[in-house]
Amino acid sequence: MTTPDDTITYTLDAHNQIIKVTGPWDAFAKANRGDAAVMDAVIGKPLDSFIAGDVTKMFVNTMLMSARTLGRTVYRPYRCDSEHTKRFMEMSIIPLEHGTVEVRHRLLLEEPMRDYRAHTLPRPAPLGLPRIKRCSMCNKIHVAFSWLEIVDALNLQVLAAEQANGPWIYGLCPECMDRRGVVL
Ligand SMILES: [Zn+2]
Repeated sequence: MTTPDDTITYTLDAHNQIIKVTGPWDAFAKANRGDAAVMDAVIGKPLDSFIAGDVTKMFVNTMLMSARTLGRTVYRPYRCDSEHTKRFMEMSIIPLEHGTVEVRHRLLLEEPMRDYRAHTLPRPAPLGLPRIKRCSMCNKIHVAFSWLEIVDALNLQVLAAEQANGPWIYGLCPECMDRRGVVL
């Protein structure tokens, strides 16, 4: 069950450096294989260094700028799946004084993957496989000229099992790119 204690919060200074972290960050980072991002290691670091992909960085920076410029909280739903679970999250950015902002990551809903067998096979991707684009917001991947959930791509046989763990090129799908307007 989700409790308010699951919310991860961090505070950024005016230059987007992390100055404070609260919530079960360590557990969250470890559960998501982000061992390098344990709490002690993130204080004083730029937020950018924890975001994969230039498009995603740009997107988050746009959100930060909106919150500061508008002087009100902006919200954005996104997906942050763990190995066996779909995790529907919400990011909110709350402007504080002097350009600092508080960023909250709240788990809205969890549901099991319909079929995660392929994800758990310890098969590293062979060298030379083309990298596949993956949306940082909704977690869909770009295969066969469409944006699909990984399980759907596997079922449709447009993604090989050995490709199901990446490597990915992170960015945004057109749908998530279009929905930027929702937060502004
Ligand atoms: Zn997307």
